[in-house]
Amino acid sequence: MYEKLGLSRIGAELDYDLDQLIDPISSRYKWFRVIKVAPLADASEAYDSRRDQYHSSRVLVLLEKSIEKLRVNRVLGVASFDLYVPNMNFVFGEARMPGNVGVISTWRLKPQSNHQVGLFSDRVIKEAVHEIGHMVGLKHCPNASCVMHFSERLADTDLKSPNLCNNCQTQLMVQVE
Ligand SMILES: [Zn+2]
Ligand SMILES: [Zn+2]
Repeated sequence: MYEKLGLSRIGAELDYDLDQLIDPISSRYKWFRVIKVAPLADASEAYDSRRDQYHSSRVLVLLEKSIEKLRVNRVLGVASFDLYVPNMNFVFGEARMPGNVGVISTWRLKPQSNHQVGLFSDRVIKEAVHEIGHMVGLKHCPNASCVMHFSERLADTDLKSPNLCNNCQTQLMVQVE
């Protein structure tokens, strides 16, 4: 039995090739069939002009509204604009836990130098694997090298691996059964 996970661009454009996420996600969540789906080009309902950021929880609501049309079980949105939730300056992403929608932003993941393409890609993969972990019911992990560790700053993201630690892997198995 497999589930379909859709990858959807949020907004008019994206500075990241979504195809690059397909293998990293399917190798970690093996019962997912990962496909690219139609973009959610207009996320203006989630835009807050005072903060000049997008409210990530409102993006999740937009994704929930569109998921049936996309014909997937779950969808991860990827945006290149900045995301926030009230009480925080920004978030790298947010997901229903557990649930069928999640979103990540590449806005804060860009390296200082354009030459560090690999670093940018590694960060996007970690954030995607992290939010999907929440979608399948995983909580934050105290292990700083586990992908489910909470990233408060980019340094936390760079420190952690793209993989689930043994504990989270065991948790994942319990959730799936
Ligand atoms: Zn998290
Ligand atoms: Zn862990």
